[in-house]
Amino acid sequence: MYRIFLLCSSIFFLAFGKTTSAQKKLKEISQTIMKTPHEQNPNATATYEETINWYQQLAASHKELTMVERGETDVGKPLHLAILSSDQDTNPTSIRNKGKRILLVNNAIHPGEPCGVDASMLLIRDLLSQPKKKKMLDNVVIVFIPIYNIGGALYRNSHTRANQNGPESYGFRGNIRHLDLNRDFIKCDSRNAMAFSEIFQEWNPDVFIDNHTSNGADYQYTMTMIATQHNKLGGALGKYLDTKMMPQFYKAMAKEDWEMCPYVYAKETPDDGIMGFLDLPRYSTGYSTLFHTIGFVPEAHMLKPYKDRVAATYKFMEVNIELLNSEEGVAIQKMKQEAAEASKTQQKFEINWELDPEQPSTFLFKGFEPGYKKSEVTGLDRLYYDRSKPYEKNIPVLNNYKAKTVVNKPAAYIIPQAWKEVIARLEINKVTMQQLQKDQVLEVETYYVLSEETSSKPYEGHYIHSNVQVDRRTEKVQFYKGDYKIIMNQTRNRYIVETLEPEAPDSFFAWGFFDSILQQKEHFSAYVFEDRAAEILKENPTLMRELAKKRATDKDFAESGYEQLHFIYLNSPHYEQTHRRYPVYRLNN
Ligand SMILES: [Zn+2]
Repeated sequence: MYRIFLLCSSIFFLAFGKTTSAQKKLKEISQTIMKTPHEQNPNATATYEETINWYQQLAASHKELTMVERGETDVGKPLHLAILSSDQDTNPTSIRNKGKRILLVNNAIHPGEPCGVDASMLLIRDLLSQPKKKKMLDNVVIVFIPIYNIGGALYRNSHTRANQNGPESYGFRGNIRHLDLNRDFIKCDSRNAMAFSEIFQEWNPDVFIDNHTSNGADYQYTMTMIATQHNKLGGALGKYLDTKMMPQFYKAMAKEDWEMCPYVYAKETPDDGIMGFLDLPRYSTGYSTLFHTIGFVPEAHMLKPYKDRVAATYKFMEVNIELLNSEEGVAIQKMKQEAAEASKTQQKFEINWELDPEQPSTFLFKGFEPGYKKSEVTGLDRLYYDRSKPYEKNIPVLNNYKAKTVVNKPAAYIIPQAWKEVIARLEINKVTMQQLQKDQVLEVETYYVLSEETSSKPYEGHYIHSNVQVDRRTEKVQFYKGDYKIIMNQTRNRYIVETLEPEAPDSFFAWGFFDSILQQKEHFSAYVFEDRAAEILKENPTLMRELAKKRATDKDFAESGYEQLHFIYLNSPHYEQTHRRYPVYRLNN
């Protein structure tokens, strides 16, 4: 009813153009009572249409809110951005020049977890209409993505979140291409992710929030939190996040009666302890880390009433805005700028990580006693949490990760123009590249992929590679006019290294962008190659000795004529140099 009222009043203004004082009054009234679908039914979340209409109506009556279309999504509908800026400035460069901080909020990447959709609608309205809250926008501009996974949001249902307590209907996790967009930030299979990269690079936020709902264990908290992994973030910013910002948030949320705990990522049950989540760059906060932006994934607890989850998500965003609006925000922005600047001259880059079991911290955790009882379904033991037995105890938290692989950056990378999918992603992430002006041979460091493990089933549309082993060589390689050179003096060095070094877990190699190099193109016919192989051995006594040694130590090899010829072939000039040679080259001078 409220919405109909507002809609009618908007039409009225449109029809008559000039605003009389009575109409002004009407507009004021309509604004103050503008209620979201969630407020009208606490167990409901706004649909895609309701959300976009609501934002558009709010933007029509508040000049501080600007609604723009920014890029496309896989389902064919545009991605919207709602920019909340007290002085109506929507230019990121001029906003930054004024010293204002930028907060980016992403909603409904998993549309079955829509707390952020409803919380953002309420928060924006309150920030615009409540004078005390409006003050929080003095130094902060907030950019909201009302709904990111639009295709998923349109697949509205009441069943796909089997373990969740409301809302009564919601969207689906996968997008229209059945992609989990929270694994898509590097490979960018979706147009949504391409658009997001553009938005992120344009706005370069100081803090990024990606709103979610949890899965997993039961405990007393309504809100849990994944923050950017602080060791991965590194430097002063990582230390600040771990030792100051997070403790401050826990305190601020507790003060607002929304006590929260770290995201419960446990082996079995949380009372044995919890682990920090390794947010690889495929995930939202892992992506933001590459650009020195602190990221948060608030995970409201799936079993708490939907109304409470929305309220806790609202409060978490508000606490963030308050902090960014304060002097702390100035410090965060400065540390981010310094980290970006330092990465230009940083020599060593950590590209792979493992949990550090040393030095666990403790957290006073409010859980429910877990237990096991006989399952009515299987007759076997089943886990349950006894809500009549709440407990409070210190549990170990392993939240430190240490580097497993470290690489030195080259002076530059060279990528042949043939790898256009990779170049498109580098371009969208605003990596500075130059094109070679002529054909030329350059001495470069090359990687040969010795081995890799490949998933036996597709993961997010790819047979992903891991545990990649490489051999390093120095060679002369032919390049052509138009090939791309990336000089490593950029604030985006970290993104470049973590996507181009093949051993990195979310490199373009890992995601299969270079798979064609893994297949041999030419071969030999054994009966023809026999004579040539004999000649090769005569010319190369070392190879002959190696062959004899291998025969002596490997029975299967000694009994296979083909395997022996193959061994000679691989060690002859006939074997193609480009097989398994990784086609991104390192220029070291
Ligand atoms: Zn989620």
